[in-house]
Amino acid sequence: TNMTRPVLEARGIVRRFGGITAVDGVDVTVGQGEIVGLIGPNGSGKSTMVNLLTGELAPDKGTIRFAGKDITGVAPYRRARLGIARSFQMLRMFTSMSVEDNMLTATHIHMKRGLLSSLLNLPSARAEEDEVRARARDLLAMFELEQFAGRPVTALSIGQQRMVELARGVLSGPKLFLLDEPAAGLAPPNVDRLIALIKRMRDEFGISILLIEHDMRVVRELCDRVVVLDSGELIAEGHPETVVNDPAVIEAYIGK
Ligand code: ADP
Ligand code: MG
Repeated sequence: TNMTRPVLEARGIVRRFGGITAVDGVDVTVGQGEIVGLIGPNGSGKSTMVNLLTGELAPDKGTIRFAGKDITGVAPYRRARLGIARSFQMLRMFTSMSVEDNMLTATHIHMKRGLLSSLLNLPSARAEEDEVRARARDLLAMFELEQFAGRPVTALSIGQQRMVELARGVLSGPKLFLLDEPAAGLAPPNVDRLIALIKRMRDEFGISILLIEHDMRVVRELCDRVVVLDSGELIAEGHPETVVNDPAVIEAYIGK
């Protein structure tokens, strides 16, 4: 077990939409270097929880601490800058841009000098941009996307687009990566590649991960710990093998 302070600590999170309580008093923690699964039937509140963690939604109750700092009221772009990256259940990318340019959009959140000095071609900005391009190329190689660097994202398969999204997130240098169903729509060999790449994101880049996933093979192979939601409530938490055999969890899935 991990005795260091968690990188993410969400406590007593509540979020309502009109009469629906999408998230109902949930605690989620992610330790340094931990891969935590967030599972539950459709409509159980998983995506809402991720949107609360990134700041795209505000909670009605509860607090979120990240890297030792209370970020409950902090804007999404500032959370990104602090080191929270995410991928979307439905891909959201600049589809007409090339794969490489999509990668580079991830880094503008950190650019010391920003776009203006880069347009003015200042030497310092050029050096920074060259370094970022080199890192982007290394990551494209790791994700087996090198040959697509100059192609528009729309020319890629859904599986390849998902890989671009992950590579782009890693390039932004996050401490925590929130992955919303990364295996959805992937053929089995690509699921194997995805599992290996997510392990490398943690092992080589030290990225802690919160993983929403329906594919239980992915959950079993990757997650150190699993949190189960049902109708917005946390109904079980623990090791993947324990949780999938928990009668309350089986009931939650079968009851739908
Ligand atoms: P999951 O990702 O686990 O499938 P969601 O977090 O998307 O579940 O949804 C949880 C519940 O909140 C569902 O009942 C859903 O209909 C509702 N919900 C989610 N987002 C909104 C929204 N923006 N407006 C109204 N209801 C929403
Ligand atoms: Mg969802």
